[in-house]
Amino acid sequence: MSDQPVNTLTEVQNWLNQTASPFIISGPCSVETPEQLLETALGLKETQKVNVLRGGIWKPRTRPNSFEGIGELGLKWMQQVKVETGLPVMTEVATGEHVELCLKHNIDMLWIGARTTVNPFSVQEIADALKGVDIPVFVKNPVNPDLQLWIGALERIQGAGITKLAAIHRGFSIHGSSIYRNKPMWEIPIALRSLFPNLGIICDPSHICGRRDLLQQVSQRAMDLGFDGLMIETHRNPNDAWSDAEQQLTPDAFDRLMESLQFRQANSADLTVANDLQSLRSKIDKIDEEIIALFGDRMKITEEIGLYKKQYGITIFQLERWQEIMSTRSLLATKIGLTEEFISKFLEQLHKESIRTQTRVMNNE
Ligand code: PEP
Ligand code: MN
Repeated sequence: MSDQPVNTLTEVQNWLNQTASPFIISGPCSVETPEQLLETALGLKETQKVNVLRGGIWKPRTRPNSFEGIGELGLKWMQQVKVETGLPVMTEVATGEHVELCLKHNIDMLWIGARTTVNPFSVQEIADALKGVDIPVFVKNPVNPDLQLWIGALERIQGAGITKLAAIHRGFSIHGSSIYRNKPMWEIPIALRSLFPNLGIICDPSHICGRRDLLQQVSQRAMDLGFDGLMIETHRNPNDAWSDAEQQLTPDAFDRLMESLQFRQANSADLTVANDLQSLRSKIDKIDEEIIALFGDRMKITEEIGLYKKQYGITIFQLERWQEIMSTRSLLATKIGLTEEFISKFLEQLHKESIRTQTRVMNNE
């Protein structure tokens, strides 16, 4: 068997932007109590800006002895809140058993967390539990910046027959300091979009930022790059949250954040455009570097000429030579479509710099 995986994600349909544009998920990091969940959900409902209510029931924590989630009990509270608010609900699953419990409690959508996406065994176990049910599933990027691992997880879920599939970009845990909790590394979701233009991708600014004051800027960036939506953590009283207290917003603050964002026309081609632009810009960068290096080479020769003129007592400025430069270069430039005005201004600057260099050389400065 060949080692090359076969990509089937090209067949995926972007169901997110067919549902809502932008597609907005919000709710607490963790479901803590029935009151906390209901109050937060009612606040969000009032904003009329939320498509799905999120809430973590099983929390994969980096260190033990932190709050690891309320567990199965919380699924009943979610069911209740769904009835009371009319909002669809979603939670994170990390095992096949989680999937079964969610299905039993009519949870509407599921997501796979960043710490689970890294492990193909866990993702496959979830995929196996999903066989025969067509529930929307969101796959967060793995904690490490590995596009193939992210794609692999999406393919495993798709392989189970899930058609409402989407990706969540939540940033990457990398060595070294950064203002972000998880570095965005936008080029990775952009590469995912280029490979699979019809796969919906939303951004999770909460886990990228890790702090409230960066949320606006990252959310706007995601919208400008053409992401299909956002997942934002909210809590009735963020400072008292049992997990991720620094990054959660009150429903009111969430409302203001959303009001402050400029939503551009949803266009799934935007990320591809951003990617193309990036590659064109790097070509420009390379050309500019070459131009500057050539300026350096040219100036070295100017210095040599300066020394030569000094030795033989020749004046720096020679009208004929200058006229020749102007006319030959203008001809070359206008032939390839550059304007006369541009080239003559450019040559004047170049000539001034040459004269400065030669004056310096002649006076031993
Ligand atoms: C979460 O959404 O609360 C969560 C644990 O996210 P992540 O998997 O992105 O760390
Ligand atoms: Mn969280």
